[in-house]
Amino acid sequence: MRVEIGLDDTDSADGMCTTYIAHRLVERLLKTGAAEASDYPRLIRLNPNIPWKTRGNGAVTIPVRTRDPNTAFQEACRAVEEYSEAGRGAADPGVVVSTLEQIPKDIKQFAEKALSEVVTRREAVRLMKKYNMQFRGWGTQRGLIGALAAIGSRLEEDRTFELLAFRSQENWGVKKRKIDPISVREMSLKTHPRTFNSFDEEKERVMITPRGPDPVLLGIRGEDPEALLEAYSIVKIGEAVDGHMIFKSNQGTGVHLKPELNPAELKAYRAGHLKCTVSKKPWIERGGHAYFEAENGGHTVTCAAYEPTGGFRKTVLNLIPGDTVEVGGSIRKKSRKHGAAINLEYLRVLELAKDISISNPLCRRCGRRMESQGRGQPFRCSACGFEDSSAEKIRAEQPRAVQKNLYLPPPRAQRHLTKPLQRYQANNRKPMNLIDGWFKPTAIPPLKQAKT
Ligand code: ATP
Repeated sequence: MRVEIGLDDTDSADGMCTTYIAHRLVERLLKTGAAEASDYPRLIRLNPNIPWKTRGNGAVTIPVRTRDPNTAFQEACRAVEEYSEAGRGAADPGVVVSTLEQIPKDIKQFAEKALSEVVTRREAVRLMKKYNMQFRGWGTQRGLIGALAAIGSRLEEDRTFELLAFRSQENWGVKKRKIDPISVREMSLKTHPRTFNSFDEEKERVMITPRGPDPVLLGIRGEDPEALLEAYSIVKIGEAVDGHMIFKSNQGTGVHLKPELNPAELKAYRAGHLKCTVSKKPWIERGGHAYFEAENGGHTVTCAAYEPTGGFRKTVLNLIPGDTVEVGGSIRKKSRKHGAAINLEYLRVLELAKDISISNPLCRRCGRRMESQGRGQPFRCSACGFEDSSAEKIRAEQPRAVQKNLYLPPPRAQRHLTKPLQRYQANNRKPMNLIDGWFKPTAIPPLKQAKT
């Protein structure tokens, strides 16, 4: 029987990661023979604007084949109880088991909504009851939302893969990961474009390592599992590795920006895209954040590119009123200090307005720039005193510093779901079977009570 085990909200800012628990759970299921893997586990990133997320709003589902879904459910609950941060007030885990042959449309729609909007636990519970799913929540049980959304995210249109390697328990909490940056750069150069966002060339920064106290050592993202194993073999690691697992994912697909935003009502925490016309000259505010105003259907929206987006702000500042653009991003909540705004994740320039500069004419006698003496009066040269009633203002078209093109912040400022430039060429839908090496169990026997 095909079964999926969804998990979410197991971690806190102090430690743990749902992907780690998934790794431990897969190991247990395989070792005990309770189930066998039927496909790659899926790491699904949900709406990145949810304020109650710990880090990247990731949830996991594990597709398996088993005769005994009840044991799979019990094992999942046991793994959550042993490893999660539940009970410390920080995590609110959820475990959901689906035995459905086909995922129904309303569950898929729920999952789609969870990518770009705020959904409720009640909606999740209603659906799980409707389809007789086994589920259990801890604390506020909010993790049920992500666990069900992961099951409902089928990655039918596009997907990527990520290899996650885990740290030995004695290193949890030590924020610095011992990874040789030169080897990461080499890996990135050798495997690009089959891998992406591993190394930021501009800042010479390793991007495959998280910086928190969690058990993840590194994560390499790419288009197929073979590329990930090849890339992983190139990276030089200076600390103990406690197994790895390859996940299928919606990271790097930009799927959260598919819905069209409603300019009449910019609801906080939503994500999506909008076509609009720049209506006000862009400006920069304290802290180095760049803004512009644009119009759609008589509604004005503010768009923002924050300081960490680096050179992307330059593009924004080079827009002029009249430019037609499509913006993709998330709605920043209105506050006492500022109104709602779209935080830009991409900018597509569709039409460029003409940048016309208007200047006073040059003096026919001495060649200096003339001065206006007011409406209906002739221009006057302040250098030689010549007055010229036939002279007119000069209108000149200036070259534009932006092109009709797609612009993105640099990789280091991109979100997990942001589609990197290189991925705009084609979506990845090819079926890919489990390959040897997709999963490596832990090398070190886990402690009984493994909380950090
Ligand atoms: P990590 O990336 O380390 O796994 P996290 O950032 O995923 O951590 P969680 O601890 O999982 O953070 O917290 C996110 C919570 O928000 C979960 O309980 C999840 O069910 C819930 N959630 C996810 N998406 C939505 C959504 N669209 N609407 C409402 N709640 C959501």
